[in-house]
Amino acid sequence: MKRRIATKTLKWAEPLPPLLPVRTVKQLLLCAILLVMPIRSPVLANRPRSFSSSSLADQPQVRTALDWFTKNLKWVDDEQVKLTEIPAPSFQEAKRAEAVRDILASEGLAIHTDKIGNVIGELPGSDEEVVVLAAHLDTVFPAGTEIKVRREGGRLVAPGISDNGTGLAGLLAVARAIQTAKIKPRRTILFAANVGEEGEGNLRGMRALIDAYRTKLRAVIVLDGSGTDHVTTKALASRRLEVLITGPGGHSWSDFGMPNPINALVRASVRFINTKVPAAPRTTFNLGQIEGGTSVNSIPYEAKLKVDLRSENEDEIARLESSLRDCVAAGVKDEMDNARERNRGKLEWKINQIGSRPGGELPPDSPLLTALRLADEYVGNQSRVERSSTDANIPLSLGIEAIALGAGGSGGGAHSLQEWYEPAGRDMGLKRVLLTLLGVAGFAPEKGPS
Ligand SMILES: [Zn+2]
Repeated sequence: MKRRIATKTLKWAEPLPPLLPVRTVKQLLLCAILLVMPIRSPVLANRPRSFSSSSLADQPQVRTALDWFTKNLKWVDDEQVKLTEIPAPSFQEAKRAEAVRDILASEGLAIHTDKIGNVIGELPGSDEEVVVLAAHLDTVFPAGTEIKVRREGGRLVAPGISDNGTGLAGLLAVARAIQTAKIKPRRTILFAANVGEEGEGNLRGMRALIDAYRTKLRAVIVLDGSGTDHVTTKALASRRLEVLITGPGGHSWSDFGMPNPINALVRASVRFINTKVPAAPRTTFNLGQIEGGTSVNSIPYEAKLKVDLRSENEDEIARLESSLRDCVAAGVKDEMDNARERNRGKLEWKINQIGSRPGGELPPDSPLLTALRLADEYVGNQSRVERSSTDANIPLSLGIEAIALGAGGSGGGAHSLQEWYEPAGRDMGLKRVLLTLLGVAGFAPEKGPS
């Protein structure tokens, strides 16, 4: 993506002035201007303040934090390997959560684990507002999957090493760097290792975090996987549905002609897969799982189908769901109309929602995206805006500023047994995260001499 802001005119998206020592005439003048400004209107009070691009990264404490990454890359690698080797399928994250909890506690943060298993380390700010840095704990790999990390050349190889070993290691590293540098933020920073991002976890960890902090929450930064090439600002909406058709069942020979739920499901499916979907907004459907019946010589009493619907526009998802309902109703009717023994039993059908990820978009002029762009500029990175399905879906759908980022380095083969991670360049990714986070968290006002 083309950068639109020249370095000289870059402004930090600082919600309130950073009240660390002002060291340049330019900054002094800027502060003077702010001090003599008339009382702020409610609208202006929430607008980001502007500061020169170097003001954040040049603060001595921020420097210390940035340097910490460069000096402690081995520690970050080691934590990533340790956490990755603790199994954490969705709904079974507790052991890995415990390990994360111990590390965050050793960094001097106030820790608590919420009802559903999210681990939250709190760095109190000087005011009531909150920003969240989150990484999901869970993986798509079932219990029993071999997850010993192998080193192959410069790479670490294991299921889950990047998604989300990298995110978790990044979360811990950023917390440690901030604590080492004794940075006191204006907004409270919550370092959250959350449960339930993958699959049927259905973003339950992030939903609980948002519920708990919603009124004070100003920004959410999600660390998911590796890389520095993208920033997810658009949430891809999806809906997962289960079709269930039931009937009386019977014997394949003696009850032949009774309505058959599998026949009805096949009739419905053939209709549905002919549904036209637009290329733009990109819209997709997938018949992902089908089951039913008990034996080859029985008329089944039940048939089930799981369907995944996605779109860049939620209206298209609603349209697809209503098309699915029409097709199932028509498929069942076809089967009933064609069954010779239709008087001996009736088919019933229903559709249950088994997952839903709402959509949403971060406005391009949001303070959070500005902070990310400035961080990119500082570390010499270029990133493209992306649409994806992540924990950021939940805050974005509620109008809360949120992005998802990779936590540096590079990775591939996500959700496969050959998943890999290469730490080269990780420090740049971590610096990018730290500067973005501090860009939205701001600094506590300095206390005068007492
Ligand atoms: Zn992930």
